[in-house]
Amino acid sequence: MRCTDVQVKKKPLSPKEMLPGVFAFAPNPDSFGGISYVVKNDGNPFMTDVPEYLESTLLFIEGFGMPEFIFLTHRDDVADAEKFRERFGSKLIIHQTERRAVNQPDVTFEDFLEIGDVMIIHTPGHSPGSSSLYYPRSSVMFTGDHITADGGGPVAEDFYWTYNYQSQLRSARKLLGYDFKYILPGHGGKRLIANAKESLKEFLESAWVR
Ligand SMILES: [Zn+2]
Repeated sequence: MRCTDVQVKKKPLSPKEMLPGVFAFAPNPDSFGGISYVVKNDGNPFMTDVPEYLESTLLFIEGFGMPEFIFLTHRDDVADAEKFRERFGSKLIIHQTERRAVNQPDVTFEDFLEIGDVMIIHTPGHSPGSSSLYYPRSSVMFTGDHITADGGGPVAEDFYWTYNYQSQLRSARKLLGYDFKYILPGHGGKRLIANAKESLKEFLESAWVR
């Protein structure tokens, strides 16, 4: 008797290449289902937030080289970041108002931080220290929970856990000052938002202003 229909569910899901050299991990149950990314960056990789701490994931990342830094978008998505730091020797970066979310962050910043051609922008609202990472080489903005995906488009959600919605909308407008084609959000499935700047503009035009 043949049992060809038996399927073994593999865990975890393989990282998915969203843009050349930019990979999304499966939502991390330890950070409210937040999505983390690793960027190869020509042998000088970096990460935004962290996925579940699993050996297969660690080996996948190490295949690109040890990440120079791990940018934590905000306090909700810290999860096992310190374990990743220990394993990779990476620098942990978080906004200064949320520095206590990790034990001794390596780098903190106020409004803006530049590392090579990577830019980190303070975009408060979802939380006081929420920040976004701009990677011009791939024309992509990593937004964490600041801007998430809803039906393929960008949204700044004004419900659960948002600290200051008006501030969040101001921060979203601030991002329009950068030249990007894509958004890779912290939530909304493994979903690449294309035509992102135009869509964000449209969202802001219709956003409820209190
Ligand atoms: Zn959050």
